[in-house]
Formats: sequence, C-alpha cells, structure tokens
Amino acid sequence: MACSFVRMEDKIKTFSKFGDTKKGGITRFSLSEEALAARAEFVRRMEAIGAAVVTDDMANIYATIPGTEDLPAIYSGSHMDSVRQGGNYDGILGVISAMEAAETIVSEKIPHKHPITVVVWTNEEGARFEPAMMSSGVICGKFDKASMLASVAKDIPGYTFGEALEASGYKGEEKNRITPEKCAALVELHIEQGPVLEAENIDIGIVEGVCGMINYEFTLSGQAGHAGTTPMPYRRDALYAAAKTIQYIHDELDKLDKKLVYTTGKISCHPNIHTIIPDEVKFTLDARHQDTDVIKQVLAVIESLPSVVEKCDLTYEKAWTRNTVAFTPELVNLVEKSAKEYGYTNRRIYSGPGHDAQFLIDIVPATMIFVPSIGGHSHCEIEYTPVESCLKGANVLLQTLLYIDEK
Ligand SMILES: [Zn+2]
Repeated sequence: MACSFVRMEDKIKTFSKFGDTKKGGITRFSLSEEALAARAEFVRRMEAIGAAVVTDDMANIYATIPGTEDLPAIYSGSHMDSVRQGGNYDGILGVISAMEAAETIVSEKIPHKHPITVVVWTNEEGARFEPAMMSSGVICGKFDKASMLASVAKDIPGYTFGEALEASGYKGEEKNRITPEKCAALVELHIEQGPVLEAENIDIGIVEGVCGMINYEFTLSGQAGHAGTTPMPYRRDALYAAAKTIQYIHDELDKLDKKLVYTTGKISCHPNIHTIIPDEVKFTLDARHQDTDVIKQVLAVIESLPSVVEKCDLTYEKAWTRNTVAFTPELVNLVEKSAKEYGYTNRRIYSGPGHDAQFLIDIVPATMIFVPSIGGHSHCEIEYTPVESCLKGANVLLQTLLYIDEK
C-alpha cells in the first residue's frame, strides 16, 4: 500500500502556485485571495474523489469520504495559510498528505470501516490575524470566539477576521465542527521545521508531544545622560546592564539539560539615540523543553537574578507559558509501527513549535508525524522537503489511518 509519487509531486507543485513569491516560496495569508484559491483547489480535488465537503463557523473545512460502517471519522490535515514569504511545506504538506492518503484509499479501493475526513484549519499562522492557531483554538475552547472575530488584519487597517470570514464564502455552521463524538482520532503530518531529522538521517519523526515553554519579559531601568559628558563611573547604562543580564542567563541555562532551547529574540532600547545613555531596555526570554522539571530549573535561574545589575533596576514579568502537551500514546505507537512497516528510519521527537493538533488533543485522541526540513529551514522561502521524503510521510500517514481503522 503506497501513495503515488507523481500525485504527491503534482499536489505540491499545484499548491505552490497559490501565493507564489517567484522566489521559491509563498505568501498566503489566511482568507486572502491566494488562500481562497488554494481552498477552491482543495474542495475541487476532494469532491472529485467523492468527498462530501462542509465548513464550520470558523471556516475550517472538512472533506469526508464515507466508510462502510456508521462510525466516528478518522481525521487528518493541517493548515494552508503561511507567514509572509514562507515556504511550500509548512502546513500545506499536512493537507496534501491527507488528501493523498484519501485519494490512495479511494483509487486502490482499500476497504475501511470509518469515514476519513481531510481537514483544513483556518488561520494557523496568525500572520494576518492574531493569534496563531486561532480556529482550532476556538473550537477547542482555548479562545473566545467574539474576540477572535474582532481580530484586526495587519495588512488592511480596520478589517476584522469576522469580516474576512463573511466575505470568504467558507463560513459554515457551528454544528459542523469536529467534536469528540464525531472523531475517532486525528493525525497531523507536518514538516519538522528544525534540523534534527535531516542531521540524523531519519525519515520519520514520531511526535510524542509539544514542548512546554515559558516567555518572560525583562526590564532594566537606568538613567539617561549625555554620551559625551557623563564619566563612566557615574553611568547607569540600561543597555550595558541588559547585556550582562543576558550573558548571565545564557551561562546559567547552558548548565541545564542539553535539549533545552532558549532565545532572546526581542529587545528594545530607549531612547535608542547614539548620543544618549540608554535609560530603559526590555528584552524577552523564550525557553522550551518537554520536561516540566527543566522548565522549573529555568524559572529558578530567572528568580536567582539580582534586583540591581550595574546600578540599574532589574524587573521581569511572565508574558505567557504553555504546558507540555503529550499526544495519545496508542496513536504514537501506531505511527511508529507504520514507519517500521515501510522500513523507514525513525525516532521519537518532541515538537518545539506549536501546531493545531496540540489544541485538538484536548477534545480528541491525536498525534503528529514529522518529516525532515532540509537545513532545518522553515518560515522562509528556502524551506524544503524533497518529494521522496514527503511521500514517505504520506505513506506512514496512510498506514497509520488504516491501523486506526482496524481498531
Ligand atoms: Zn505549520
């Protein structure tokens, strides 16, 4: 039982046209003209293989091919939207793989008891309307729908997500949402978006869960002064103090578990003028690890910081946190069994990035499959996964869906 290389390649090429930047990538913001064209292609192709297509009130699309028994459906899919100048694989490959698995089942007449539903989640990236994973979040009770509908587009002043939803033609009924009663299991295939699988020559990442993370914002407060008149001993330079603090945090975090990843990705300096000693600097720390104990050790490092650094006051606050999410062990095992079935190299892995499946696990059994990202690149135009690797992922997905069906 195997998916088709030719069909996979065709699907990847076809969807890469919607929002093509002509530089190897796509810009396909949620519910944009380009995204609507991709949706139309999805619907056309799914109807062509006999799927019944419905949408829910958040414009999530569900395309279902019937099973031989009256059972809950097995769901698979991902998202079609991208970041600005993103790649041709993030999200869309999960949709394409689920389409290909369904098409293989139909064309090979593979018997299955459960209906198979290919799903497209609306606005996963949050690149146009914040937050990320908006629509899976609403149906899983993570976000308040009214405030999500009021989210304003970054590309059109005053234009809300609610208005985009109305204009899209894809707004359906709330009763069409995925629910625990309707769903036997959900499997999302995704690119790894990191370098590990390629570096270790691994075909398939068996995703055990999504790493917990914390995000803190630090503020150093000093005293502004003239860069030419203030002797060094009199200064309270907030940027210098911030640099020392960042160095200290990195030195301490380097002593913790090697799987810990942490980033200072955002910094602001006030007044940010070359002739003035900075009086206020803010920076962030994002830290991720699958083990809650390691996250607690990160917190201990933060709490060990002095309240004064280089004569500047140091304060910090929690911006947000995410607990580690564990996928359904039975399903994780079935992904592993499927990878072995094909003789593909595989390893267990935790996801650093967030995905729709991490919300869905709250209401239905769920897991994910990763395929390698060449060079670990993602959210950029050089994001790439060879068709051969995509096909291996689709095969493992197909087999996993069939194993779930046997249960
Ligand atoms: Zn994604």
